[in-house]
Amino acid sequence: MTRANRVLVLNSGSSSVKYQLLEMEGTEDGAPARLAAGLVERIGEGGGRVAHTPRGGKRRERELEVPDHAAALRAAAEELAADGLPPDAPDLAAVGHRVVHGGQRFTEPVVVDEEVLEEIERLVPLAPLHNPANLAGIRTARALNPGVPQVAVFDTAFHTTIPEPAARYALDARVAEEHRIRRYGFHGTSHAYVSRRTAALLGREPAEVNVIVLHLGNGASASAVAGGRCVETSMGLTPLEGLVMGTRSGDIDPAVVFLLARVAGMKPEEVDALLNERSGLAGLCGDNDMREVLRRVDEGDQRARLAFDVYIHRLRKYLGAYTAVLGRVDAVAFTAGVGENAARVRAAAVEGLDVLGLAVDERLNNAPGREPRIISPEYARTAVAVVPTDEELEIATQAFALVTT
Ligand code: ADP
Repeated sequence: MTRANRVLVLNSGSSSVKYQLLEMEGTEDGAPARLAAGLVERIGEGGGRVAHTPRGGKRRERELEVPDHAAALRAAAEELAADGLPPDAPDLAAVGHRVVHGGQRFTEPVVVDEEVLEEIERLVPLAPLHNPANLAGIRTARALNPGVPQVAVFDTAFHTTIPEPAARYALDARVAEEHRIRRYGFHGTSHAYVSRRTAALLGREPAEVNVIVLHLGNGASASAVAGGRCVETSMGLTPLEGLVMGTRSGDIDPAVVFLLARVAGMKPEEVDALLNERSGLAGLCGDNDMREVLRRVDEGDQRARLAFDVYIHRLRKYLGAYTAVLGRVDAVAFTAGVGENAARVRAAAVEGLDVLGLAVDERLNNAPGREPRIISPEYARTAVAVVPTDEELEIATQAFALVTT
């Protein structure tokens, strides 16, 4: 008998569910294969929609009412069944759920039971937008398919190795402890996957290399990974800290918040919305998409130029800081939407940083490609790489390993 070898990966947001079905073993080339992927949108908002793409097939879209997460998962299951891939026993080994906040408790993926659900619930105050949606996804998937193990894979888990001096804020220790205020970091599955792939690209074991990973998507974060363990990351208590992002400010003086409250009369939720939704590239120049920012820079638009320069300045500051944290850097890896596609961002981020052993080869940097690749010249002390991330594959791999070993 062949064992169940598929994993359904679910990324449940408050109004959307992204899903992928992967085959983990027995594929033609031996590597896990994506069988289908899709997105259910506008949950509970009316005018729902599911878009689904089977492997090697055409994307199809239909409209339907999606009042809640249960309806969203049923819609996903129907799409998969229509391709002859019903996501249930006997083929399904596990459902892997992306869970944003695992606090200090979850250092690895876990099979979900009642106690795990309660713990994720207790972490809701730290991730009020994300954890409730992740929980809804887990509870629903469990009810729909009670015989299949549900595995929670946490965005914070890879960062739980960060040493105390990097994880602690210099706050009143009792207040910090009472409210669990510390650096947790996010995008952990991506940082884990990319740092490991980068080591492989160098032909080395993860334990032998120090890597700075720059995950530059709509959200953006940097991490310093020493010998396979994360030792520092730029996002903190929430995904607001650190790099300049599409709509998030990243680092600011915390006193900006007091000024906005006292002088501008803004309420906490208004400041929250300003810093999370109307800052970053969007705040500086009105566009959050780096493609649009670059297009405007080419047209001589001064606001777009400033936005680009602020974005790059912050990146370079972090490169310097993380070089100091690591002591020796073997590679800098660019990943996610901007990191994988924007050669100009990569070039500007390392320009003139010979002092850190960093340089990119113009031809390699501009050559198109979807595979992990090195873009630094041979002579450079530190490798600069483009390593496409794949969070769903990493979640599936971790979930499958947990239920089969
Ligand atoms: P998310 O954080 O939503 O997962 P992604 O990692 O997919 O985001 O990154 C999305 C962002 O990537 C877009 O907002 C856009 O700014 C950027 N991006 C995508 N393609 C390009 C490109 N060719 N050049 C520059 N930026 C790009």
